[in-house]
Amino acid sequence: MKFNDIKEFKNKINGKLLFDYSLQKLNWFNIGGKAEIYFRPETLKELIDFLKLYNNRGKIFILGAGSNILFDDDMFKGVVIKLGKRFSNISKLKDNVIIAGSAASDKNLSEFAKTENIGGFEFLSCIPGTIGGGIKMNSGCFNKEFKDILISVQVIDFQGQVLTIPAKKINFIYRGSNLSKEYIFLSATFKGEKKNKNLIQKETENLIYQKELAQPTKIKTGGSTFKNPINQTKKKVWQLIKESVPMDISFGDAKISEKHCNFFINTKKASSKDMKKLINFVIKNVKTKTGINLDLEIVIVK
Ligand SMILES: Cc1cc2nc3c(=O)[nH]c(=O)nc-3n(C[C@H](O)[C@H](O)[C@H](O)COP(=O)(O)OP(=O)(O)OC[C@H]3O[C@@H](n4cnc5c(N)ncnc54)[C@H](O)[C@@H]3O)c2cc1C
Repeated sequence: MKFNDIKEFKNKINGKLLFDYSLQKLNWFNIGGKAEIYFRPETLKELIDFLKLYNNRGKIFILGAGSNILFDDDMFKGVVIKLGKRFSNISKLKDNVIIAGSAASDKNLSEFAKTENIGGFEFLSCIPGTIGGGIKMNSGCFNKEFKDILISVQVIDFQGQVLTIPAKKINFIYRGSNLSKEYIFLSATFKGEKKNKNLIQKETENLIYQKELAQPTKIKTGGSTFKNPINQTKKKVWQLIKESVPMDISFGDAKISEKHCNFFINTKKASSKDMKKLINFVIKNVKTKTGINLDLEIVIVK
């Protein structure tokens, strides 16, 4: 059978390896069908052994906290890899320098930096993802992005080769970079600056307050659906959507958030198809009304 060798491998590891596994609870939209294989390695060796055995025989998708992705309703033909707990350690390496595993949450890194009196990580308290997702997306808010604090990233490619890449060799752009699509980020080193923890606490609270005022929380969403079209207009994407699209439009249970119209929400049981219809409707209407082409910020997993 197709995965007999992988079924045998499953019995030799501590990590989780499951077949025909539902992806619905693994992402913020709560949308998605099943994956042929879901793998949650607990050690680097397990990950390397798996990649070598799997040998690119199907697709590979690396999942973080699932706060920026839209899975398909149909079966994902391949493996979804989500790094296990042991990839989420955070420690101080030296003065103002922190190393964090890719599965650590942005919030935990921000908290850790605060307790160590290291500033520069406050914005991370507002992003509900992991370090891996943040590096991939060059996530950011309040005029700060991952690239501003990153020193280097340790990666493994789909063939099982581990390497360290200094940040200065990476070309980061708005919500992305030129890093290979075949890299799994394992950990990253960051640098901040010395800052009193009380001051950090105040600034963090202020950012969280501002964010909660402007954007919906505790709902099933993927965050900003589209990037701001910075090369085409000075207008923010939410302004373009507001000008071009009826705010009460819905496809099944897929709707536009009343609080922030670049956030799309699954109010109950929206399918991926519903959400994609909403996305395409908005793209078409914004293009017709303003002539501007919208680019997705959320990642549609195919
Ligand atoms: C309520 C809400 C608010 C948000 N606010 C912001 C914001 O202010 N600023 C902002 O930039 N974003 C924001 N987002 C989007 C999202 O949180 C970020 O993009 C986040 O960094 C994604 O991290 P993740 O771990 O959830 O990644 P996922 O959504 O799981 O994946 C995103 C991408 O990263 C890749 N990836 C994840 N982990 C790894 C890894 N270890 N190695 C290689 N690739 C990996 C995935 O393959 C995928 O391509 C928001 C989302 C929500 C739901």
